Amino acid sequence: MSENFSMTIDGRAVTAPGTFGVIDPATGEVAEQAPDASREQLDAAMASAQAAYADWRRDEAARRKALLAAADVMFARSEEIGRILTLEQGKPLADATMEVVGAGVWLKYFADLELPREVIQDDASARVEVVRRPMGVVAAITPWNYPLLLGIWKLAPALLAGNTMVLKPSPFTPLSSLKLGEVLRDVLPPGVLNVVTGGDELGAWMTAHEVPRKISFTGSVATGKRVAAAAAPDLKRVTLELGGNDPAILLDDADPAAVADRLFGAAFQNNGQVCSAIKRVYVPEALYGDVVDALAERARAARVGNGMDEGVQYGPINNRPQYERVGELVADAIAGGARAAAGGGPIDGPGYFFEPTILADVSDGTRIVDEEQFGPALPIVRYTDLEDAIARANGTHFGLSGSVWGTDADRAAEVAGRLECGTAWVNTHLALAPNQPFGGFKWSGVGVENGPWGLYGFTELQVIYRSKA
Ligand code: NAD
Repeated sequence: MSENFSMTIDGRAVTAPGTFGVIDPATGEVAEQAPDASREQLDAAMASAQAAYADWRRDEAARRKALLAAADVMFARSEEIGRILTLEQGKPLADATMEVVGAGVWLKYFADLELPREVIQDDASARVEVVRRPMGVVAAITPWNYPLLLGIWKLAPALLAGNTMVLKPSPFTPLSSLKLGEVLRDVLPPGVLNVVTGGDELGAWMTAHEVPRKISFTGSVATGKRVAAAAAPDLKRVTLELGGNDPAILLDDADPAAVADRLFGAAFQNNGQVCSAIKRVYVPEALYGDVVDALAERARAARVGNGMDEGVQYGPINNRPQYERVGELVADAIAGGARAAAGGGPIDGPGYFFEPTILADVSDGTRIVDEEQFGPALPIVRYTDLEDAIARANGTHFGLSGSVWGTDADRAAEVAGRLECGTAWVNTHLALAPNQPFGGFKWSGVGVENGPWGLYGFTELQVIYRSKA
């Protein structure tokens, strides 16, 4: 590829005093260099966002127009940006291109979303209005699994509400966000979107910085807690979208052949590197063998390879620490008596490739069931008593999403309603859309993204009370 990737600060291309290597996970080799922002450059980005806020907040119609124009850029350049995403993230080019198209869909949705002004009283004594005001500068910090789309989940509502932004992607996947900043330089006024890149410490500088009034963070639970602590002294507002360990519970009337494709798809999408992927499956004893066999068959048939190659369904794991972690969790389960019904280990050769793995004869208390694996390995857990299965599904600090599967959809919905999580699906999983609030219970997050509720997270409520007395 070899392209010069620059940060966007105050509407201009900015290089940094230093750079860091970005690895192509399909080869394990450094493929590109990204700017390593200095503290002074972060200050400049924050100052620019602060200055741009004064005008940007004033003209709602201009903001809507800009978001629509940004959506058009995403649609028009989806393959070009998709290639950058595949290079740094590993996902197949078709999926990467769809991620960019998805970014356009989200931008369009927010461009049309109402910013309500509600009159809650209008009588002889007073007219009382409740309005939603922007907050100022938003610091946005994103992870490496869907770097572009998750950045847009923040950018679109934040900018629509009248805020400006400094965006920092993960050091594993900085290039697509740098490109985003570049392609939007002609669409957004200078300072409205600044994109800076660097290591984890740049994120910490942002959360401690005096300028932002809001931090919108997506990433791991451990970092989310640090972000919340860093925000506290200044009482910055936070939205935290954190990890998940989503259970899927099959009821005794589920048909393994009918649900296997969807279960597999929702567990292995993006190689399992999805916060709300299925991460453990609870199956009644009578269906257990059939479900394991059906999922193992799909795992063996999955085409794993370089995301740039035609027909590849699953790329490499994104980065070495994650690749090692998935390997460690799978080895731990097998050492503890689990059976690899499919896969079970890394794939020989360069790059961070791992066999799609189905683990049978595994139970709660094993790390891969209790922790978030975030990779292409799925444990299938037996149960005999549904109440016990629900208790085990809920017996975790996580609470992002979950699903219940059965032929009697009403019964499945009743069980789904008992899951302690932000989204409970019935006979599907990972059905996300711009109009649905997405967020987690417990350690999976604070606040939500998407829909009007996500938009409100980038606003402060203000009461305007006009006395008539
Ligand atoms: P991570 O927490 O390691 O990093 C996320 C971001 O935080 C990166 O940009 C990183 O540079 C930055 N960061 C690191 N230390 C920081 C600090 N002290 N202060 C501020 N920023 C800091 O997460 P990751 O490994 O990139 O992503 C994987 C995790 O993200 C998984 O747990 C996954 O479930 C979660 N995730 C959640 C959602 C959701 O919407 N709930 C979506 C995608 C991913």
